[in-house]
Amino acid sequence: MDQQQQRIGIMGGTFDPIHIGHLVTAETVRLAFNLDKVIFVPAGLPPNKQSASITSIRHRYIMTVMATYSNPYFFVSSIEMDRPGPSYTIDTIREFCALYGRKTEFFFITGSDAVTDLPTWKEVDSLLTICQFVVAARPGCSIAVDKAINYFDGMQRQRIHRFATKELEISSTDIRERVKKGFSIKYIVPESVENYILKEGLYANSK
Ligand code: NAP
Repeated sequence: MDQQQQRIGIMGGTFDPIHIGHLVTAETVRLAFNLDKVIFVPAGLPPNKQSASITSIRHRYIMTVMATYSNPYFFVSSIEMDRPGPSYTIDTIREFCALYGRKTEFFFITGSDAVTDLPTWKEVDSLLTICQFVVAARPGCSIAVDKAINYFDGMQRQRIHRFATKELEISSTDIRERVKKGFSIKYIVPESVENYILKEGLYANSK
């Protein structure tokens, strides 16, 4: 089968929980980079985190599906839910390359704090060859992010795009704290996600 030339955003994150900051960022990046679709990939086990400190992937996956279903350009993949061990981004992008073919261009979208240790990510040179990065950052400079990006030379650096977004004032950490304290999270997460969190009793006893 002849595979089409596509531009696909891969929205990688822990999404514990997903919130409107993630959704607005993904939609804004989709339009700015002329992407055909954005695939949300909840991290099974983020390589930088202890499994005990995060909510089960099943809950995070379900909330991500609920949050994205109304946007026809948004999709959710269970690729990292199904793969055991740490969720290395290189393994994920390679799986997508095999699925979509060589003509597809991939853009890995993630938060700025997540890339401060990008130079140490597994097979980072290969990763920057097979996909570009869109680093969603609050306006203003972050020395740690600049340092991580400047680690790479000209050609590789050109494949890392900073994307200023105000919506990331919202954070998953803040939402977990609010639930724990019994504060409202209305309008910070989609209604379906709010209802799911309350029904399942998520974050009520979070650390
Ligand atoms: P994180 O440290 O939890 O997040 C850092 C910051 O970025 C937080 O402020 C977070 O906000 C924000 N953020 C995370 N994902 C975002 C997204 N897609 N769009 C906008 N903001 C986002 O990061 P993480 O979730 O563990 O890791 C992010 C991605 O990088 C995951 O897919 C992970 O697997 C991958 N990663 C790969 C490697 C590797 O391959 N070696 C190493 C580290 C991370 P919220 O808390 O509000 O989300």
